[in-house]
Amino acid sequence: MTMHDARKRAEELHRENFVLDAHFDLLTFVLDKRQKGEKSVIEKDYLPGLRAANVDVVISSLFVSDRFIPEMALRRALDMIAALHEEMTESPGLFSLCRNTAEIAAANARGEIAFLLSFEGLDPIGNDLSLLRVFYELGVRGIGLVWSRRNYVADGCFFDPVKEGRKGGLTAFGVQVLDEAKRLGMYIDISHLNDEGVEDVFALYDGPVIASHSNCRALAPVMRNLTDDQISRLAERGGVMGMNACSVFVADPDVKTVTERDLCDHVDHIRSLVGDGHVGFGFDFCDEIRDFAALGPHREYDCIKGYGASVEFTAELLRRGYGEDAVRSIMGGSFLAFLKQTIG
Ligand SMILES: [Zn+2]
Repeated sequence: MTMHDARKRAEELHRENFVLDAHFDLLTFVLDKRQKGEKSVIEKDYLPGLRAANVDVVISSLFVSDRFIPEMALRRALDMIAALHEEMTESPGLFSLCRNTAEIAAANARGEIAFLLSFEGLDPIGNDLSLLRVFYELGVRGIGLVWSRRNYVADGCFFDPVKEGRKGGLTAFGVQVLDEAKRLGMYIDISHLNDEGVEDVFALYDGPVIASHSNCRALAPVMRNLTDDQISRLAERGGVMGMNACSVFVADPDVKTVTERDLCDHVDHIRSLVGDGHVGFGFDFCDEIRDFAALGPHREYDCIKGYGASVEFTAELLRRGYGEDAVRSIMGGSFLAFLKQTIG
């Protein structure tokens, strides 16, 4: 397929098929802007990009920055959910909060973008398991157990090596979380867990899990990425990995310019390990927080410049000879199948 044909076909595929991004810090950005007085932030700042790529579903994290930990973590998570409801009132008919795949289908049929909620670190519930149920009732369905720091559930993996004491896996509380998640019908996300924690999830939890925004450690050697063995075990139980566009997780630190082609190398690698059905989008677009995220000064953050540019990632898959069924699965089909199986 020529450069031009692939791009054109990718645009058509985005228009005609289900497109899902499994990780975006949308509500963190929205809350920060609303607290400065802005309104209709999603409609003004995010909808144009999402529409350019015909995105149907975004899983928004409830990410809490270090500066709010621990006392304000619960308040921040609740404020993010409140912000989404305010935004839905301010922009009626454009997007909605969904709790299962039937609600996603209904929202999309109305022409709305569906937002799902997921923790990115269980810091907001502290060590109070009963709060997990409350967040479930508020519509949260995903549980990223940790961000890149320690909480009551487990140790997170740092982006770069830091000076720290010995790491552990899941705590006793973390094990209770796994059981309660299963009882409630919430899914587990292993992105940001350290290797000990991933091992514990595989040993202590028998349901499917995802890595919403993690790449291959064989290609970009950072702790945030999964080893080949972890990828195989994730796939064995029906899990899916979202491809993270953040450059430090895509290529070696001395590669100066990272592009969507480098991210496609990760898809090639996963496919060679475990075949189709285990890869999706989990772009984690971060360019707008570059002033305070600690990812090293020498790199661009996002190797794909926003949702509009994600079509080029799809085009690159077509150029590499991926069949359209495989591409549909990567664009959203594999994550949709996972969600049907876990949250209903
Ligand atoms: Zn993250």
